[in-house]
Amino acid sequence: MKILVTGGAGFIGSHVVRRLLKNAHSITVIDDFNDFYDPSIKRANVASFGGPVEIEEMDLRDWGATQRVFEKVRPEAVIHLAARAGVRPSIADPKLYIDTNITGTFHVLEAARLLGSKKVVFASSSSVYGLSKTVPFREDFPVLQTLSPYAATKIAGEHLCGNYVNLHGMRIACLRFFTVYGPGQRPDLAIHGFTDAIENGRPIKQFGDGSTRRDYTYIDDIVQGVMGALSYVDGEEPLFEIFNLGESETTTLSQLISKIEKALGKKAIIERLPEQKGDMPITAADITKARTLLGYAPSTPIREGIPKFVSWYRELHSRKQGER
Ligand code: NAD
Repeated sequence: MKILVTGGAGFIGSHVVRRLLKNAHSITVIDDFNDFYDPSIKRANVASFGGPVEIEEMDLRDWGATQRVFEKVRPEAVIHLAARAGVRPSIADPKLYIDTNITGTFHVLEAARLLGSKKVVFASSSSVYGLSKTVPFREDFPVLQTLSPYAATKIAGEHLCGNYVNLHGMRIACLRFFTVYGPGQRPDLAIHGFTDAIENGRPIKQFGDGSTRRDYTYIDDIVQGVMGALSYVDGEEPLFEIFNLGESETTTLSQLISKIEKALGKKAIIERLPEQKGDMPITAADITKARTLLGYAPSTPIREGIPKFVSWYRELHSRKQGER
């Protein structure tokens, strides 16, 4: 199948591309290699694909460029992962998030519609649940109380997807990812940042009293869910579904820090700070729907995933030191 992966140079995207290559799909990646974090990480991700992948370096906010790439590739399916990610930075620069995540998603859907590329998998986020008090979160909960511009852009993206299904007969699966981690995790995310700080004897910033809870999802499980969604959208009749992809296990911030300390064999120096605006008190996924319809079967609980992450982190840094 001819597949276009937006954001394919990023953390989740590069894992998805490597998985798609195993099935001999024809793959094109769109990515603007922006500097939200060190772009050399994204270049290294692309260099590690180890198979034929077309790279289109472009910005999805540019409608003309988006249309040109879609016309050139004529994808049969689109996996739309490109976005400005991250809750806190979206509060600092909401316009960038709205332009990238809403206008960018609109451009992808519109270009796909014009070419008759009906099958889309869209990366949404657990952040859409905002202040929902009932846990675990189910896909049919109302999502009206978000805590960040980032979350609002993801709901807007889901709505645009629903719109394109109802008006234009597309087949779209929206996947609400719950905090994803594993080899290659973005350096701005807590597990990566904490590991780096503890390993190097720097203090870590703990916002709040350590009782906030997250459903942390291992990258291989997310990739399995994305593959399930890609098969699910393969067909003819219009289709719109939203799925939670989590591990369905929650971990407090304090427990997370302990697990990283244990895997590293080092103690954290903790700097305690007040809770941050935009942070959700809890995320917890009900994954019944994904299990039933996508065959989603997460298999790496956090007690196994953190040591795996720490091994990857140490290997990466010892390789980097060897290169110096
Ligand atoms: P990432 O930043 O590593 O990947 C996103 C990629 O999109 C980057 O390579 C970036 O350069 C590219 N991109 C951004 N804006 C672009 C634009 N205007 N044009 C073209 N390319 C652009 O982030 P990630 O963690 O891999 O996240 C992938 C997707 O999953 C995002 O949509 C994110 O919102 C969503 N998500 C991630 C998590 C998580 O925990 N990592 C959780 C929930 C949802």
